[in-house]
Formats: sequence, structure tokens, C-alpha cells
Amino acid sequence: MALRSQLLRTVYAGKQATRQLHGLKGKERAGVTRLREVLDDRLQEIKKAKTWKHERILSSPQDTKVRVQGAEGEFLNFCANNYLGLSNHPEVVEAAREGLRKYGAGLSSVRFICGTQTLHKELEHRLAQFHGREDAILYGSCFDANAGLFESMLTPEDAVFSDALNHASIIDGIRLCKAQKYRYPHRDLNELEHLLAHSEARIKLIVTDGVFSMDGNVAPLPGLRNLADKYRALLAVDDSHATGFFGATGRGTEEYCNIMGAADIICSTLGKAVSGAAGGYTTGPKELITLLRNVSRPYLFSNAPPPPVVAAALKSLDLVEGSSELRERLQQNTRSFREGLKAAGLTVAGDDHPICPVMVGDAPLAVELASGMLQRGIYVVAFSYPVVPKGGARVRVQLSAAHTPDDVARAVQAFADVGKTIGLVKG
Ligand code: PLP
Repeated sequence: MALRSQLLRTVYAGKQATRQLHGLKGKERAGVTRLREVLDDRLQEIKKAKTWKHERILSSPQDTKVRVQGAEGEFLNFCANNYLGLSNHPEVVEAAREGLRKYGAGLSSVRFICGTQTLHKELEHRLAQFHGREDAILYGSCFDANAGLFESMLTPEDAVFSDALNHASIIDGIRLCKAQKYRYPHRDLNELEHLLAHSEARIKLIVTDGVFSMDGNVAPLPGLRNLADKYRALLAVDDSHATGFFGATGRGTEEYCNIMGAADIICSTLGKAVSGAAGGYTTGPKELITLLRNVSRPYLFSNAPPPPVVAAALKSLDLVEGSSELRERLQQNTRSFREGLKAAGLTVAGDDHPICPVMVGDAPLAVELASGMLQRGIYVVAFSYPVVPKGGARVRVQLSAAHTPDDVARAVQAFADVGKTIGLVKG
């Protein structure tokens, strides 16, 4: 009885607090009214520019077949970074469950206070070993890894040279640092050399995505390494779209380019091929990793990655290292898709990578193509300016090892049909 009345009191107190909040309605504070006016204008601008982000809500786990809230049936999913199909893999899910059971939901702490478990050390050790580097540091995301790298290692005496199409997290990470900043045109080694040759900086750091996510094309690692050596520079590679599946053993862009060890520093994500849950890391020289543990702000001032997420990444690494089967399936799916679309008269940009941008050019036509695919039960997304250059609108397709040959054939056929219907393919 006492328990029941205590419960009622708590519920009543909660309702009172909510009522007080409701009471504020109708007499809005002037600052909030001003904010609404300013933001309304901004939001209208976004709508006018047709860059509004519509989120489709999944009511199922991430997988090759998904359910979308408000729509009937299942959709064949070709727009996730679920390259190896591990996001909902039974062994990965089970490992996460076991991590949760053994180590709890989370740490309620940053790493250096009381947020480091044996599991975190084990994953850092495994990642360093996987890449053959001296040490590795785990972050909540690769965005955090990039946000924490440049400011920690570079001062105004130093310089950073960044590819024009690098990921937003690299761009933001560079913004935070006080080094001299140079942006070289996308994959342009001549222009980069010109910049390096004229720099007197103490540390020179070249940074590039290993694989560029909008184009599915690969950074010129051999050329970048040569320039780094010639001008006493360092090379950092963000291998988020390569780790675990690109290259024969999944070691990423270096392995794909046949130049293992080319990067001095690798940043990557655990939110794509390796589990698909969350997390990021930096691996490289031990002095750098030690410095990051001491001064890198997203590491020092943000909670430790939760144990189920860490356990999922560890199990995913087992699967990545244990067999090439998933990588081979992914390669086969990529090849079938690229060949199928070419045969259907469509253009797929990029290199030999499961990111397959189906090029359209005109933005409304790309939206029409994606909508037509969706009507046929295939979930793909159109990208247009400013995400990609003007006139470079496209529908980006991402293959997974979990797609069956039938799934791929269905997608190819649907692209061929819709392409004809909307006049993208002639004849
Ligand atoms: N770097 C690149 C190249 C990416 O494509 C992404 C994700 O889109 C990130 C970093 C961020 O990764 P995370 O989701 O782990 O923050």
C-alpha cells in the first residue's frame, strides 16, 4: 500500500511539472519568439533550395530487407553502409547481447575517469594488430576521431593539406586546429605537390579519404605516399568506406592499392562494415596515440563507447579476419551490379567499389529515378547539389555481402525499367 501511494505521489509530481511547462505556453519569452522567426527563415531557405532531408523511419533492423513505417511490405535496401551484412548478423547480435549481460549498458563515465573496461583495451589492441600499427585509440565515432586528431597534433607551426572532397568530419576537425590549412583539388597530385613544395611548416600532414563516399572512387595512395616521402610529410587516411571489406583481407585502401603501410595514420569507423553499430578509432605511431589519450577533446570529454557496441565490433573483427567469404560475396555482387547497369545503358561512376553512383545529371530526374525504384520496392536515395557538384545528380547504390544474387538482379532490372520509363535510357 505504501509503495502504491509513493508511486501515485511520483506520478502526480511529474504531471505537476509538465503542467507548469504547459503554463508557459501562450506567454512565450521574447528570445524564443525571435529564434523561431530566424529559424523559420532558415528552414524556408532549405526547402527552397530543395535540400530538405526527409527521413524514412525503419520499423525493422538494418538489413538487406527493411520495413518502412507507413508503407506496406518490405523494401530491398540498397542504401546502407552495411557492406558485410554484419549490422544484424546473428553472431554479432549475440556478442552484443553477451557484452550487455557481462559488462552492463554503459560506463556513465569518460575513459580516463572510470570508463575503461577490459573490453575497450581488447578492441584497441585488436584494431592496432589488424592494421599492423603500434597502437590504437577508440572514440564514440569516426566523426569524433577526426574532430580530435588535428587540433591535438598540429600547431600554427604545422600545416595540413586536405583533399577538396574529404568527409565533413575531416573538414570540421581541420577547422578546429590552428595549423596552416591548404585544400588541394580532388585527387590532384600536381597541385598538392605545388603546395607541399612551397610549405616550410614543421609538420606537414596530408589527409585524404581512402574511398570517397559520394563517388565510390579511390584516393591515389601510391602518389600521395611518394609526395609525403619527397616533402617529409605524414599521410593520414580516413578508411571508413574500406575497413573490413576493401582489399583481399579487408585491410582497406592500402591493401587495395597494393601499398600496405602507406598511411602513417588511419582513422576509421565501426559504424559501417565492422558491426555497423557505432564507434571510431585512430591507429598509428604510439606517441601520437598516447598524446590523443591525453589531449584529444572528444576522447577526454565524452562517454566511453558502450560495452554491447564494443563487443559487437570485436565479434565483427573475428568474422572479418576469420574468412574471406563475405568479402568475396560483396565483390561478386558489386561486379554483377556494375556490369548489369552498364549492359542496361546506365552509367555507374567510381572504381571497383560497392558504392555505385548511378549518374543522372539533372536533379529532378535523379529524384524521379529514386522514386520509381521505391515504387518497385527498392530503397535507394538520390543526391544532388550541394552534396554533389551541380549537374552531377545521382542515385547512390551500395551493395552488401548479404544481398543475394536475386536481390542484385532485381535491382538491375528495376533500374533498367525505370531508366527507360523516365527517358534516362534511350530505346
Ligand atoms: N569518415 C568518413 C569518410 C565517413 O564516410 C563517415 C561517415 O559517414 C565518417 C567519417 C563518420 O563516421 P561515424 O559514423 O563513425 O562518425
